[in-house]
Amino acid sequence: MTHLRDLTIKSFHEGLLNKDFSALEIVRATFSHIENRDKEIGAYLDLHKDEAMTQASRVDVAVAEGGDIHPLAGVPIAIKDNILIEGTRTTAASKILKDYSASYDATVVKKLKETQVVFLGKTNLDEFAMGSSTENSGFQLTRNPHDTERVPGGSSGGSAAAVAANMAVAALGSDTSGSVRQPAAFCGAVGLKPTYGAVSRFGLIAMASSLDQIGPITKTVEDAIILFKAIRGKDNFDATSVNPPAGGEYRDELLNPPLENVRKLRIGVPKEYFIDGLDPMVEVAIRGVINKLETLKLEFKEISLPHTKYTTSCYYIIMPAELSTNLARFDGIRYGTRNEGREIKNLIDLYKSNRGEGFGEEARRRILLGAFVLSAGYYEAYYAKAQKVRRLVARDFDEAFKDVDVILTPSTPTPAFKIGEKVNDPIAMYLSDVFTGSVNLAGLPAISIPVKKYELSDGELPISFQLIGRHFREADILGIGQYYERL
Ligand code: GLN
Repeated sequence: MTHLRDLTIKSFHEGLLNKDFSALEIVRATFSHIENRDKEIGAYLDLHKDEAMTQASRVDVAVAEGGDIHPLAGVPIAIKDNILIEGTRTTAASKILKDYSASYDATVVKKLKETQVVFLGKTNLDEFAMGSSTENSGFQLTRNPHDTERVPGGSSGGSAAAVAANMAVAALGSDTSGSVRQPAAFCGAVGLKPTYGAVSRFGLIAMASSLDQIGPITKTVEDAIILFKAIRGKDNFDATSVNPPAGGEYRDELLNPPLENVRKLRIGVPKEYFIDGLDPMVEVAIRGVINKLETLKLEFKEISLPHTKYTTSCYYIIMPAELSTNLARFDGIRYGTRNEGREIKNLIDLYKSNRGEGFGEEARRRILLGAFVLSAGYYEAYYAKAQKVRRLVARDFDEAFKDVDVILTPSTPTPAFKIGEKVNDPIAMYLSDVFTGSVNLAGLPAISIPVKKYELSDGELPISFQLIGRHFREADILGIGQYYERL
């Protein structure tokens, strides 16, 4: 049977139709691999083994009957545990939701169920998606499969580690400031953050609603396209979801665009991304990517995104403001575990007890920050000002996109860092998504792609580059990505 390492969505589909293996065989092999490997990695919070086996058998029946088989049918995938699957536990890796069972499917899950995909289980994350290392999970550590002393990135660290360790063929994550792209980069996987609004957020436990977007983590760009096509589109349950305007990516064939179309794209390289603190190895790797792409006769140009340096400060005002609002519902009354066994004197005391026990340190820090920046005396000075800065960050991109079609940057300033290295220094941790956050502030699509796909030598850590496109021009970044992968 095919080695799990060699399985992509595409090769799974081909092998399934070819009868090289059955869906059940692959799903069973994946679970036995998870039973061994995940003891060390810690990617999964919950496994849905029975449902997965039943679903795989259904796909095998469909294959035997010889009907139309969707490219995702039978593919074993993992779902970040802040995305709801009806009737199963969904915790967002927070103790406050440790007993919560989802009462409906997220729209992305509903759409994937229609393709007959197989859900293996739910993956670990930083609590409510707050973090860059998955160390903020209320339940467990997740380790980087390339070096288990290092973090897998975050917040979708479980999803990225599962894919990288062949414990899933693909996964879904969510990205508010880099949480799909940064862990994908640290684990050597592909991570796509779609344009804001391209994918419904209904059934995603909200972190910062104006920034959150669900996206695929996969082994190849081609696989990211297959998953993206299955989950995108306007949804009446998410008023911010849209079908793209004319000229958007729906018009374009995403898979295998002709090289002459891709060659027309001019690529900008922002000088502000090659700064102090950028690991020299990352810089060399990114220059190597540019050289490689130049062999396709793609044209490069230095550009400027002058407000880049304000991105992180701006994000750490807007995000906590939205987050403290979104997390207000977790009080142990409407949602969340009630902290039993304590004497409660009054309502405030009840809130304090439930929220104080249920939320971890980072969640509490950000709730406080958010409440502060929204408070009457400080709203103008912080929140209102940050909204203006957000506009400037977005305008930088508008200006740049007058000149170029796609922007290329490193995905992260360094490769995966050591477990424990930044956990007590929130600012250092926050800076690990300096290159990904402005994309969310501007609502743009972006993809992180490993510089080297297969030829990592022993002890070498994955390094990745990021391609950023215009709104709804996923086709451009995915087109270049596919050609890069073939080089
Ligand atoms: N590092 C970011 C944060 O901690 C990532 C958030 C995200 O994209 N979900 O807020």
